[in-house]
Amino acid sequence: MRVHNVESASRSKYVMGCRCAECRKCNAVYIASRARKLRPLTLTSANPIRIAVLKLLKRGWVVKTLAERLGITAMSVYDIREGRRERVSVRTAGEVLLLMTATDAENSILAGSAPSARRETSVSDELREE
Ligand SMILES: [Zn+2]
Repeated sequence: MRVHNVESASRSKYVMGCRCAECRKCNAVYIASRARKLRPLTLTSANPIRIAVLKLLKRGWVVKTLAERLGITAMSVYDIREGRRERVSVRTAGEVLLLMTATDAENSILAGSAPSARRETSVSDELREE
């Protein structure tokens, strides 16, 4: 089997069938850069997510906890809330919508801080489950 050195290896040689380490590396670099270019396709409109985030904050979530839960920075949550983001990742959108489907009681537990008006309800709901 022919082995290319760093200078002579290339992705086109990989496409032609060469599987030497250096040509495989060239192909891996190409695949990674293509994946980076495709990433914008995994973004979705931020507007429905902004509305959902506003509702979650009204339900007792605080920005910091919500950000931790979503795996994004608090600044990103602020940006979404203030409409400074036009797009969000599909993953973040999915997480937000998942939280939207949780009940008020579940949200209080998840958020770890409920507005005082809701605290009584969530505590009694928790007791009922035991
Ligand atoms: Zn090669």
